[in-house]
Amino acid sequence: MATEFRRIFQVIDGNKKLVGDGFDVTSPMPGPRIRQLSPYLLIDHIGPMQIAPTNTPLGSPPHPHRGFETVTVVYDGYLAHRDTAGHDGTIGPGDVQWMTAGAGLRHAEMYDREFAQRGGNLELLQLWVNMPKADKLVPPKYQELRAAAIPNVLLPDSKGSIRVIAGKYNGAIGPADTFSPITLLDLHLNKGADFVLTLPPAYNVGLYVARGAMLVNGDRPAKTQQLVVLGWNSADVQITASEDSLVLVLAGEPIEEPLATYGPFVMNTNEELMEAIADFENGDMGKFPEDE
Ligand code: MN
Repeated sequence: MATEFRRIFQVIDGNKKLVGDGFDVTSPMPGPRIRQLSPYLLIDHIGPMQIAPTNTPLGSPPHPHRGFETVTVVYDGYLAHRDTAGHDGTIGPGDVQWMTAGAGLRHAEMYDREFAQRGGNLELLQLWVNMPKADKLVPPKYQELRAAAIPNVLLPDSKGSIRVIAGKYNGAIGPADTFSPITLLDLHLNKGADFVLTLPPAYNVGLYVARGAMLVNGDRPAKTQQLVVLGWNSADVQITASEDSLVLVLAGEPIEEPLATYGPFVMNTNEELMEAIADFENGDMGKFPEDE
């Protein structure tokens, strides 16, 4: 009997938008064709964009979040983060930042100052990952996952490699601490690479093509900045790289709880959203030193 592969539900193009004052973003989710791929709520592909040398780094100036996590995967350039829970750091190529907003904070995500002075290419992915209702109001947390701490599983025959950011793959365990079962993989594929990716059948699975192009299950093409949404009928999906490619695999157990979202807040009910807005307006989501 032939192997059955996961059905392909949708192949979704990204929409262009400007985030903050300095991020050119392409985003396939959320949008008219997909509200969420639980527990993933948003994919923002920032760049690739050329930053001209400047002494005034741009980006996303201070803004609040509550009820979910922001996960930033850097492909090129340097991003500086600081938040009102006291965390700060700069992440560069291969690094991942996993920030838990939980009960709420404000943060700024800007071009790193030295990087901005030199100028150069900036390219990164930011995901929003939902949190279970029981955990939404935990204290904020910050995980800086350096490239060297992320296991790199080599594919045979020089096909490429799979970086395990969260969850397990082929015995490698990703360093990210998560609130629900998640497998997040960063595939680096050489042209012609083909393999079968196996994940728990009940997981939601999306394949985001950050660079390059691929064939899914042997015949369905997906190109740069498209999101492929897969079904639950099988554990397996076949991927063939038509070009050298970077593909982010977003997989995880769906959080089967009501979703209420408003801008930077992700809760379960409208009442909780109203509380979040009131708390933010009261100044309860943290202060930076310059706000005092
Ligand atoms: Mn943010």
